[in-house]
Amino acid sequence: MNPHHHLDPSTVVSYAAGALAVEVAIVAATHLETCAHCRARVDEAERFGGQLVEQQQPVVADPARQASLRASILDRLDEAPAPASAPLPRGAPYEDDDRLPAPLHPYFGASYRALKWRWMAPGVHCIRAPNTKAGTLLLLKIGPGRSMPVHSHGGTELTQILRGAYHDALGHFAPGDVADLDSDVEHQPVTVPGTACICVSALDAPLRFPGWFARKLQPLFKL
Ligand SMILES: [Zn+2]
Repeated sequence: MNPHHHLDPSTVVSYAAGALAVEVAIVAATHLETCAHCRARVDEAERFGGQLVEQQQPVVADPARQASLRASILDRLDEAPAPASAPLPRGAPYEDDDRLPAPLHPYFGASYRALKWRWMAPGVHCIRAPNTKAGTLLLLKIGPGRSMPVHSHGGTELTQILRGAYHDALGHFAPGDVADLDSDVEHQPVTVPGTACICVSALDAPLRFPGWFARKLQPLFKL
């Protein structure tokens, strides 16, 4: 697997620092299982983070200095050449048809076949992870050739594609790809024909659907 859509550098730095909302971190970890490129960047961010801790003055944290250090880390990540993708070890996710990625097991179990899907809208089924904290962690199954309603977000939406594929204004997203969207993005994914698209999505703030869909869906599913 060679993903084409990766974690945003700010997500990489936040993941390395343990600063992501837990739901978002779970989806990031799911991407990292399949992506040597992003794993290398997390390693790099952790190394920089260690250097920062060593350099930190014990008395006063200067916000301007912290901002400039963070910007320099993001610049370094942007400049770093993409490492070659290492082959996945045997038994890695996506090779075994029925096995969910390991970071999802505590929330959804290990088996696709055992999933208990709930109807959400025509052509759309979902499973909401129980016992998550402030955000939302959702498995979504969208039928082939379906379009989701246009929506935007109050915060981050991180979505890892597990099966099938969709496209939107940002490109084509296939298994292994991650869509790392902030609150400025409004998009309308359309799944490709032939196979349902299964993805795992983390939201750290409510989704915002416009119009009738919002009025019907948001009270029902607390999205
Ligand atoms: Zn990646």
